[in-house]
Amino acid sequence: MQTESPTGLSHIESYFAKYSDVPREVILKQDLLRVGHWFTDAALELAGHALVKSYRLFSYDLMPMTEMKRKEHRKIPEWFTIRGGDYGLRPVTVQTTLDSKSPYVIDVVEGQAKLLLKGREICNVSFPKPLKYYARKFEDGTAYHEIIAYGYFVTVFRNCQYWGPDEECRFCDININARQMKESKDFTFNAPVKPVPYMVEVARSIEEDATEEVGFPPTIDFIITGGTILKTLHGKDEDSFYLEYASALKWGGHRRYVNLQTNAKDKETMKRYRAAGVDCHHANMEVWDKRLFEWINPGKSRRVGWENWVKWMVESVDVFGEANVRPNFVCGLELAKPYGYPTVAEALKSTSEGIDFMMRHGVFPRFNQWRREPGSNLVLRNEQPPVHLEFYIELMRNYYETWKKYGLPVAHHNSVHPEARVMGRGHGTYDDIILLNEVPDYEARADRGMREGLKGCVTNP
Ligand code: SF4
Repeated sequence: MQTESPTGLSHIESYFAKYSDVPREVILKQDLLRVGHWFTDAALELAGHALVKSYRLFSYDLMPMTEMKRKEHRKIPEWFTIRGGDYGLRPVTVQTTLDSKSPYVIDVVEGQAKLLLKGREICNVSFPKPLKYYARKFEDGTAYHEIIAYGYFVTVFRNCQYWGPDEECRFCDININARQMKESKDFTFNAPVKPVPYMVEVARSIEEDATEEVGFPPTIDFIITGGTILKTLHGKDEDSFYLEYASALKWGGHRRYVNLQTNAKDKETMKRYRAAGVDCHHANMEVWDKRLFEWINPGKSRRVGWENWVKWMVESVDVFGEANVRPNFVCGLELAKPYGYPTVAEALKSTSEGIDFMMRHGVFPRFNQWRREPGSNLVLRNEQPPVHLEFYIELMRNYYETWKKYGLPVAHHNSVHPEARVMGRGHGTYDDIILLNEVPDYEARADRGMREGLKGCVTNP
């Protein structure tokens, strides 16, 4: 199969026709993540007051920051919402993924942001409003939102001790991204480790704003993440380090649901995390196939190994409960050059088998789309053309069917940002395909969230 590239509306329409059982929003969003998008000057200006992109972990861009001559990295939104147009699209969020060469461009037409494909209009675009705490700063000038992004995401360790080609996951640009952020001099917090008191204070302020808005402390989801700690960091081993953050975040306020991403851990260790207040664990496996796991994740493979990783994920369902074990997969790595599968069919078969296995055991995987970041090992070493759109669409179809087959619940969505509360995560379509197919008043809920803020989407105290 040839690698196709978008050629205009006929390109996307051909996929709408071929996959008429898949929501069109899912198809378009996958394409936007796959080949990125660009902003005209007018769109950049309009987006300038939105919730700014955090570069919270990886860059999630198809180009380096040094090529962003208009300082796009400090003007683009964390995500944008696509909606309407001739295809009658329901709203879904798309994580901003810059590529100046993309055929998808966001422009402004008669005062309204629009998504264009090769100059032809597809739909409306809107940008997320910043949360109130985005205006706050610590005395040393650190912006609160650089400690916790969009009320949810806390990267407590901005580097990874898996270092270099023999250790680092090959798709990952965490270390390069941290470096480019520092070199840009456009971010207020560049230390690799976030101080616990800073995290506690920002979480308090997020909760206070939300409580003021809705009149009671609502449930709020947070996620803690960071690089691997092989030996020690600030005198702590990996478990002691992450346990301290998890506990401080969980018990620092009311009704918090704490997600934590780390390497896979055995059941006894997971019990310690649960006792410390972790509600949901993400042992991000990145790719299902054993041979590819070993190639893509050399550090994880050597330290934990595929067999242990899978066994411990399954066992951790006993600790956290069904659907509270949510490993991430960097969707598309199955087809990475040079050792990925040669065909879409083989890649689909492998990962679909993995989805079936995991869901059968109550593990609820997530599929964040591979963004082919230029500083990553995979892209530095090999040309990596966009992964076939068919792969993403068919994988999401299989994902949804398997989710139904095993009767898993609809995922927990209590992020404090109203758009993140009612719509799926911007970096993939694993939430969207369930929400769009299963939530009967999806559009009305999204409208309430966008119109009324948190008040519009918190119904149960
Ligand atoms: S464990 Fe892998 S994906 Fe995670 S930060 Fe380290 S190198 Fe990146």
